[in-house]
Amino acid sequence: MEIFQQVGACRLCYKMVTLRQHAFECDNCRRWVHRLCGTGISYNQYRDIMDHHRHGGSFEWLCPTCDSVARKAAFTINEEGEQQVVGLQTLEST
Ligand SMILES: [Zn+2]
Ligand SMILES: [Zn+2]
Repeated sequence: MEIFQQVGACRLCYKMVTLRQHAFECDNCRRWVHRLCGTGISYNQYRDIMDHHRHGGSFEWLCPTCDSVARKAAFTINEEGEQQVVGLQTLEST
């Protein structure tokens, strides 16, 4: 039996995230989300981010759920009437 190193379950698909997979830890809720589960981050962007991270750079990332909450908060603060299109979908229904 192979032992996979697991870091937690993806917040969006609820499958385990292994260290071999591309995934991000949310800075807000500390949950993990696969890169392909709605992060909108390309493979090249992911590599750049990881490279940056390895060299001691910091990277702040919010999962789509926390991000939409943050955007809503920012939107209420912004009273300029500028419309923001939020293309994120929340898969949580419960
Ligand atoms: Zn996932
Ligand atoms: Zn989050």
